[in-house]
Amino acid sequence: MGNARVYNFSAGPSMLPLEVLERAGAEITNYQGSGMSVMEMSHRSKVFQKIFDDTQAKFRKLFRVPEGYKILFLQGGASSQFSMVPLNLIGATGKADYAVTGNFSNIAFKEAKKYGEISLACSSEDQNHTYIPTQDQLKLSPDASYFYYCANNTIYGTEWQYVPETGDVPLVCDMSSDILSRPVDVSKYGIIFAGAQKNMAPAGLTVVIIKESLAGRELPYTPLMMNYKTMIDKDSMYNTPPCWCIYILGLVLDWLESQGGVPGMEKIKHGKAQMLYDVIDDSRLFTCAAQPGSRSDMNVTFRTGSEELDAKFVKESIEAGFTNLKGHRLVGGMRASIYNAMPVEGVEKLCEFIKKFDKEN
Ligand SMILES: *Cc1c(COP(=O)(O)O)cnc(C)c1O
Repeated sequence: MGNARVYNFSAGPSMLPLEVLERAGAEITNYQGSGMSVMEMSHRSKVFQKIFDDTQAKFRKLFRVPEGYKILFLQGGASSQFSMVPLNLIGATGKADYAVTGNFSNIAFKEAKKYGEISLACSSEDQNHTYIPTQDQLKLSPDASYFYYCANNTIYGTEWQYVPETGDVPLVCDMSSDILSRPVDVSKYGIIFAGAQKNMAPAGLTVVIIKESLAGRELPYTPLMMNYKTMIDKDSMYNTPPCWCIYILGLVLDWLESQGGVPGMEKIKHGKAQMLYDVIDDSRLFTCAAQPGSRSDMNVTFRTGSEELDAKFVKESIEAGFTNLKGHRLVGGMRASIYNAMPVEGVEKLCEFIKKFDKEN
């Protein structure tokens, strides 16, 4: 392996920008003259408070989070939000609508049923989650406390290309695998949440953007640590926050700004995905798992149709300096996760490799 960095197509945790790793490395034993690592600092110290405040401010600016919304830095992963969302929101009417378009929204749907009356607004299971239902196909309940969906289906490689219209019903969205990859009108949402380990930072941080007026209606037995109000009142510092991950998120946001911010990133990531889809569509051997119109720019799922050839592709890709191209067991085939930090060059090289494999097999 030597000292070369590989092109890592992992679905998560995934690549971080090299500049970020280098900067963190340079500051690892002595952060800006403090005499200690960010990992060793009190979360109540002035030095850390500044890191925290700056990171929150950068996030607000880059993701254009309006007034009236809080940005929380929590732990527990995106998965803990599957419980936290219903615990805090379902009390309004006792009902909620869920769109099930993949693995994680299905887990969230099942979890929410513990807390109220949950309706299936739509499901793409009939075609193994290869598509996103249209607005016309959504079954909406006017008295739902909220409407839940997952913007990008990491495993199946599909992505919502529109924001569901739900009238006065607040939108709740899991953006774990496409946050910061495209501009979002945050004012359309009640809650947006994302685990950090795909597009933002190391695992251990969960970012929650919440409309403040939605907090404070939790079910009476909501655990203290799963109450948005607890975290809003203490600005995510009720207990020790994931300090190191917040610091790295700050560095990632600096890098994102240097790429033209979120609009700049949208162009770059769309270009990378288009390049890969074009090569797959033009090939003899490969087909995409996701249907056109629903394809994800973040997780590209594809296959040859032969399990043997898929295995050969994965084996040879490792020898060629790529890692983690094997698809998830629920889909099979291959998956290239090309999050924000995947360099364009990595996708170009993968395209060349696919073309070569297509010719030789
Ligand atoms: C990875 C992922 C999750 C799970 O995240 P954890 O932080 O591991 O709980 C949930 N939703 C989506 C869309 C994901 O990609």
